Amino acid sequence: MDDIEPIYKRILLKISGESLQGKTGSGLSEPVLKKLVKEIKKVHNLGVQIGIVVGGGNFFRGRDSDNSIVKRTTSDYMGMLATIMNGLALCDAIESEKLSTKLISALPIEKLTEPVVTRKINKYLEENRIVVFTAGTGSPFFTTDTGAALRGIEINADIFLKATMVDGVYTGDPKTDKNATLFEKISYDDVIRNNLKVIDMTAIMLCKENNLKIKVFDIYKENSILNAVISNKEGTIIGDEKC
Ligand code: UDP
Repeated sequence: MDDIEPIYKRILLKISGESLQGKTGSGLSEPVLKKLVKEIKKVHNLGVQIGIVVGGGNFFRGRDSDNSIVKRTTSDYMGMLATIMNGLALCDAIESEKLSTKLISALPIEKLTEPVVTRKINKYLEENRIVVFTAGTGSPFFTTDTGAALRGIEINADIFLKATMVDGVYTGDPKTDKNATLFEKISYDDVIRNNLKVIDMTAIMLCKENNLKIKVFDIYKENSILNAVISNKEGTIIGDEKC
């Protein structure tokens, strides 16, 4: 392990809430958390600085509620609170592996979290603490994908690793289209032009404007986070035409 050289020194890892629920259908799965933090530790042991944005879809998503009584903005704040619940659990899980964390929230909750202060966050990353970002952008009508793009740009990450439930970007929906093939690389413009639903449009536009590459890969595949950091054989890279 010692002689493996990571190709990225600072990463922004996006973990969806859904991927934390495992087979339970909602909420948190402890076996999934355990497995996940063991992988995060392997990446950390390579000296990679790690920021994580966690979603909240395993508890609540603003866009899924019907908003007839509870307003959309309220639902979105509820969704952001869900991401903080996941962040709390993720920090405990990471610390159970004897790694140090900082829990950051775009919504101020002083007793549990710290605010987004980029200078401080950069210091934490340099100290090799794992920084867990919650509450997305802190504003309704956005998603944690956009929060991840934003934080990735703010911390000057080398890559935005989008750990998801599929192993990359396909020409079509692999569940319904048998002929769908996996892209090794694809440009931001092609993702936008073909409306590929791999990441939300605001997030991809932000990445494009700030030249932050995205790697989409399967979170459940053994060692996929580690492989995404040490090689370009895992998943699909989204970048400019030359990527
Ligand atoms: N959310 C929001 N603003 C943000 C990020 C998230 O309002 O900047 C809310 C929104 O309701 C969203 C929920 O938080 O549905 C959970 O986030 P997301 O759906 O991105 O989580 P994931 O699908 O990644 O688990």
